[in-house]
Amino acid sequence: MDLYEYQAKSLLSGCDIPVHNGYVVTNPNEIMQFTESKVLKAQVQIGGRGKLGGVKVAKTYSDAQSIASEMFKLKIKGHEVKKILITDAANILEEYYASILFDRSKRKYLLILTKEGGVEIESLAVNNPEVIIKHYFDTSDGLTDNEAYNLCLKADFNADDSEVIAQILVKMWECYQKYDATLVEINPLAKCLEGDTQKIYALDGKVSLDDNAWFRHYDLYNGFNDELDTNNYFEELARKQNINYVKLDGNVGIIGNGAGLVMSTLDIVTQTGEQYYQNGKASKLNKAANFLDIGGGANADHMSKSLNLILSDPDVDRIFINIFGGLTQCDEVANGILKVLDRQSIEFPIVIRFAGNNASQGLQMLKNSNHKNIMVAKDINKAAQMIVEK
Ligand code: GDP
Ligand code: MN
Repeated sequence: MDLYEYQAKSLLSGCDIPVHNGYVVTNPNEIMQFTESKVLKAQVQIGGRGKLGGVKVAKTYSDAQSIASEMFKLKIKGHEVKKILITDAANILEEYYASILFDRSKRKYLLILTKEGGVEIESLAVNNPEVIIKHYFDTSDGLTDNEAYNLCLKADFNADDSEVIAQILVKMWECYQKYDATLVEINPLAKCLEGDTQKIYALDGKVSLDDNAWFRHYDLYNGFNDELDTNNYFEELARKQNINYVKLDGNVGIIGNGAGLVMSTLDIVTQTGEQYYQNGKASKLNKAANFLDIGGGANADHMSKSLNLILSDPDVDRIFINIFGGLTQCDEVANGILKVLDRQSIEFPIVIRFAGNNASQGLQMLKNSNHKNIMVAKDINKAAQMIVEK
């Protein structure tokens, strides 16, 4: 789950990383009177808002009103602006970049630090890679104060700034671990002038949380999720029922067990769908409507819930259920399917392929049920052909 800036900042701030005070509004009338300049920041989950009119400074209250009403009309790279964060305006002297993420290929955490912040890190990596300091580490060693300090020196910060920034890096790592994040990014981490003193702030924050850790932070994650403008109703419905599901843009409902098998099923449906369409063997281009993995050892109830979810998607006009019985028993899956079909009549084909544990029992149950739209396939290729040829 990717958080909005204001949500990310609440976590950063909770870990003692300095952020400017702020609050969120959903319309210009909610802006409070002020005397010192404020910054208005569109809360959308996309970077580069600054260049697209999503970050503006307002000197007066009436400026803020008109800036906000324009900002609420924006679509930033397709994202509607439904919330605006109002924060104290900073007097920025310098902008830096810091992030911690997980590098799967190296199986380590990666800290990225550079003095050249504010810009997109991707373009900096292309044009000026030598100024980017990278540090890999793992949980056994973590990120020590000393390491962080040396990284700051390496990134060309002076000794005083390095002291301060090293503390922020260590707190970012604490934040990463505490909330089971997969990304904590501050861009810009800015040196700001306050009167005649200088202070370093997280001016922008991006935090992604690990959905697999939802159960460990149930209330916190749910709270964030409720505030997100989730653009997919079915994914939301799936999450609430603990179904591993991703909405796609096609019409073939897919259910399988194990992420690998479901991915291969998607691939083979796409491939066969294209072939059949090009050869004129199908009247339209059939593509997967979703990814749905019932997981290992799924019971009949979970299968029923999964099938009901797929059936509620109006884009779906055919279903392919592909089960390899290992931990999962095919007769249990058949039971789950029949529970749904006994209650509801379906006018489109459901192609089923079972292999492995109790496959023949499962297939026999389906056969005995006499549902006219259930079609059984011998193997995955045959199943893919059956599902796309209609
Ligand atoms: P992004 O473009 O979506 O990454 O949004 P940011 O929050 O990073 O803001 C973009 C840019 O706006 C920053 O790099 C700053 O230069 C500028 N900016 C953000 N907050 C302030 C502020 O409080 N005061 C001033 N003067 N500029 C700001
Ligand atoms: Mn930014």
